[in-house]
Amino acid sequence: MILYLVIPAYNEEAILEHTAKKLKEKMDNLIEQKEISPKSKVMFVDDGSKDLTWEIITNLNKENTLFSGVKLSCNKGHQFALLAGLMEAKKDADVVISMDADLQDDINVIDKMLKEYKDGNEIVYGVRSSRKKDTFFKRTTAQMFYKLMRFLGVNIIYNHADCRLMSKKVLDELENFKEVNLFLRGIIPLIGFKSNIVYYERGIRIAGESKYPLKKMFSFAMDGITSFSIKPLRLILVMGTFILIISIAIMLYALIVKILGHTVAGWTFLTISVWFIGGVQMISIGIIGEYIGKIYNETKSRPRYIIEKVIK
Ligand code: UDP
Ligand code: MG
Repeated sequence: MILYLVIPAYNEEAILEHTAKKLKEKMDNLIEQKEISPKSKVMFVDDGSKDLTWEIITNLNKENTLFSGVKLSCNKGHQFALLAGLMEAKKDADVVISMDADLQDDINVIDKMLKEYKDGNEIVYGVRSSRKKDTFFKRTTAQMFYKLMRFLGVNIIYNHADCRLMSKKVLDELENFKEVNLFLRGIIPLIGFKSNIVYYERGIRIAGESKYPLKKMFSFAMDGITSFSIKPLRLILVMGTFILIISIAIMLYALIVKILGHTVAGWTFLTISVWFIGGVQMISIGIIGEYIGKIYNETKSRPRYIIEKVIK
């Protein structure tokens, strides 16, 4: 069984050598124990780094063919770097595990994942059992995000990032998802197949800094939501209906106040108009939203089904 580790790296010169050393130990060990084939590799994907990342990768590859590299022409972002690596790796690999270059995800998770794979799982999700070592801010924002996604009806795995094992079969299916707003965490569960979860402790970043500043985190979260859920559009319709109901109450109130004679001229008409028109407009936008939602889903042209097995 050929295993490829796919590691996206963006400006990771501070930590890459350390990462390579750790991963080499792990891989050598696994090869020795005959868990994986000697043709297995660690594949770094340089996501258009501006520092010495690519030079380090080339040197590693010269020293040892365990290391291979893919260089993107410019910075495309984590998700695309990862996808590029996965698609490249599946040409030779039977199984691929993806991880971050900073090894915040405990590498012993690799053994656990391989065990699950041997038990017949095609996808194994790495889940952070605790995030004690993340900053308070990162932890709370991340957890809010997972909860919001759940609320919006997106099937994502709580506290699972991009540390996962996928078999070649799964990667072949992933290739059929043609969307350009890439949010792998949302897509992989859609692929299906037998899968399981393994837990690990998330560590701290020992060198270099996070490549996800607040701005990127926010845009990543927005992408995740808007690429997977049309619920926000439907909420407009719900709000419109709600406002229209309120407008009826306001109508009654305004008429009663008028009958009792406590109003200035024109007040009743204006009040009723504002609420009623508001409700009607919101509902109209919501209905248009429903159609846009349909167009949105059609343009994604995701595969409508995936066959796991055929027996004849
Ligand atoms: N990364 C990337 N391209 C980017 C930003 C990040 O390939 O534009 C990689 C980065 O090198 C790392 C992984 O994505 O391997 C996760 O980034 P980071 O550890 O900075 O994120 P955090 O752990 O802080 O969420
Ligand atoms: Mg990290």
